[in-house]
Amino acid sequence: MKKRTFAVIGYGGQGGWHARQILASDVAALAGVYDIDEAKNKAAERHGMFAYPSLEAVLADEKVEAVVIATPNASHKALAVKALEAGKNVVCEKPVEMSCAAFDEMTSAAARAGKLFTVHQNRRWDVDYLAIKRMAASGEIGGVIRLESRIHGSRGIPSDWRRVRAEGGGMLLDWGVHLIDQALQIVREKIVRVCCDQTHITCAEVDDGFRLHLDFESGKTAYLEVGTYHFLALPRFYMLCERGSAKIEDWRQNAQVAFLKAWNEKDVMPVQAAAGITKTMAPRDERTLDIHEADRPVSDVHDFYRNFCAALDGREPILVTHQEVRRVLQVIEAAFQSAEEKQSVRTEI
Ligand code: NAD
Repeated sequence: MKKRTFAVIGYGGQGGWHARQILASDVAALAGVYDIDEAKNKAAERHGMFAYPSLEAVLADEKVEAVVIATPNASHKALAVKALEAGKNVVCEKPVEMSCAAFDEMTSAAARAGKLFTVHQNRRWDVDYLAIKRMAASGEIGGVIRLESRIHGSRGIPSDWRRVRAEGGGMLLDWGVHLIDQALQIVREKIVRVCCDQTHITCAEVDDGFRLHLDFESGKTAYLEVGTYHFLALPRFYMLCERGSAKIEDWRQNAQVAFLKAWNEKDVMPVQAAAGITKTMAPRDERTLDIHEADRPVSDVHDFYRNFCAALDGREPILVTHQEVRRVLQVIEAAFQSAEEKQSVRTEI
């Protein structure tokens, strides 16, 4: 099968990742990269890649079928619209933009041009997320009551454009996009309430972390948290279900699952716990639980480009849809409103 030809716009951290992904892909080929910073273009050349002298040169190159936009967040819309209007298909980095209104302009441009436009939600291929998603969908430990998804780092917010509000900085627009996107793939229900607060421990201008509660229509909840000032991290995932719990400490580890075999226990004895005794919090009789490790899902992030190219050929529907991307932005807008007003926001998302 003929490989589809891509160019990468922005050769920073993530642009470099895309270039390497495309070079290693069985469906995609790299025509070259373009960065506004000449030093980055020189670096690309040293890495054996072709560096375009300008954006116009990329868009004028007829062999380029699709561009990947891997520039700071605030530049995505202008670049994507320009590329679509030049007849290119577009893969845009997350967050696609900072508002639904801006995203709508991008989807309109894609519709006018009749070109494929999607967003790089690569963390849909995270093995830890896939393990939790599979557990939720299988009903192995019953329906989801509460999903907790958090990521804790200890280096503060990076000292680049990510600290600048006008550039689309802050952690809600960074890791937040991934955590929200993943959660909405796991709990597929209308969100009726959003409540968010943000931290500013290492940066006054933008959030360096947040706590976000989503209430779904049936009463299920999701709690999403990003922190960049944690020197002991809490588990990456914790899921409370009707017949048990699942936990993943971090992405290197498998899911630990507790399946509740029997609810009732006889003769529970109070235990000494710190400075008192408790029956409520006494450990369960281990015969009432089956605790085991879940199998590790198989995942290959190259499937992102495989899907994009198959969608270009009309062989597969695109996996990351406009509707899904827009819902994430709706949650982000509600989260910013909630944090600003210091109260929860009723939603129909
Ligand atoms: P970065 O600062 O490392 O790189 C951005 C690059 O874009 C820089 O080299 C800069 O010179 C260049 N640039 C800026 N404006 C440009 C323009 N108009 N035309 C061409 N080049 C331009 O940032 P990064 O970490 O690579 O992030 C880039 C994007 O990728 C962001 O949207 C970010 O959210 C996203 N990202 C996604 C993931 C993921 O897992 N999906 C991970 C990291 C970053």
